[in-house]
Amino acid sequence: MTPFEQQLTAVRACQICAQFLEPRPMLQLAPSAQILIAGQAPGKKVHSSGILFDDASGERLRDWLGVTATTFYDPTQFAILPMGFCYPGSGKSGDLAPRPECAQTWRAPLLADLAQLKLTLIIGRYALAYHLPQAPQSITAAVKAWRTNGPKVMVLPHPSPRNNPWLKQNPWFANEVLPELRQRVAALISVKT
Ligand code: SF4
Repeated sequence: MTPFEQQLTAVRACQICAQFLEPRPMLQLAPSAQILIAGQAPGKKVHSSGILFDDASGERLRDWLGVTATTFYDPTQFAILPMGFCYPGSGKSGDLAPRPECAQTWRAPLLADLAQLKLTLIIGRYALAYHLPQAPQSITAAVKAWRTNGPKVMVLPHPSPRNNPWLKQNPWFANEVLPELRQRVAALISVKT
C-alpha cells in the first residue's frame, strides 16, 4: 500500500467524531486530480446513499461544470473534499456545521497529496474561510470577485435548489461566471462517457 492509500484507508476508518455523529466519511481523490471541489459536508440523503453529490445539488453542479457523472466521479480528475467528511446531523435551522475536527485532522495532509491541483472550486462559507481567507467572506461578494481571485480558484454559490432565489437575484452568475467556469474545467478534464 502506498502512503497515499494508507492515508485514505485511515480517513475512511476515522471515528474521531463518533460522539457527535454517525461516522461515514465521504471523500473522493487521487493524486492526479487537477480539480478540487471543496464543499461543506454531506447531507442526509448522501449519508444514506454513500455517494457524494448524489442529489439535486449534484445534478446542478455537474451541469454548471459541463461534465457527465462519469467524469465527475472519476477521482483521477475530480477530488471532492467536503470540509467535514461525515453528515453532521441537523438542527433547528437545517444541517449542522461540518465538524471542525475534520479539517483540523485531515485537510492539510490530503491537500498535500494533490500536487497536480490547478483549480479549486469553493462551495460554502467554511470552505471559503479555509481556502480563501483573504477573500470577502460574503459568498455573494466572493463569487463576484472571480476575476480578482485568480485563475486557480473560483467560489460558487451552493447548487442546492434552496438557492434558487439567490440564482434568480444574481443573473450575472449564469451570464458571466458559468461560461468562465465551464471553460476552466474543460481545459483540465479529459472527457469520458
Ligand atoms: S467528520 Fe471527519 S474527523 Fe469527524 S469522524 Fe468523520 S472523517 Fe473523522
